[in-house]
Amino acid sequence: MPDCLFCKIIQRSISAKFVFEDDDAVAFEDINPQAPTHVLIVPKKHIPGLADTSDADAALLGRLQRTSAVLAARLGLSGGFRLVTNNGRGAGQTVDHLHYHLLGGRAMKWPPG
Ligand code: 5GP
Ligand code: ZN
Repeated sequence: MPDCLFCKIIQRSISAKFVFEDDDAVAFEDINPQAPTHVLIVPKKHIPGLADTSDADAALLGRLQRTSAVLAARLGLSGGFRLVTNNGRGAGQTVDHLHYHLLGGRAMKWPPG
């Protein structure tokens, strides 16, 4: 998608601090971190959000969660981590390309704000 920020980051036309890449996904540091570790796990396929997925995306969604768990271990988040996706403006989604926030390195509150 030509006007999509995360598609541009995936294509390296906008820079980011990458921490992971495979055939299906990338992960890079959030520009405005909300925790000592704040990484975005992003599928290479442009999907606006979780509500726009179909059954055909089930394997990809599983891969994204597994990648998140592997990254959490690799980034040393043994004390706990949170994996979040915001779907829709009312939930705080600002970039319309599916992504998961991996947050860790500090105590997390519940419920989230
Ligand atoms: P959302 O609000 O859609 O759930 O999450 C979007 C995230 O993308 C935000 O946490 C925001 O800080 C991050 N973000 C926005 N623009 C950029 C950018 O240009 N580079 C990086 N690395 N992160 C960005
Ligand atoms: Zn995109």
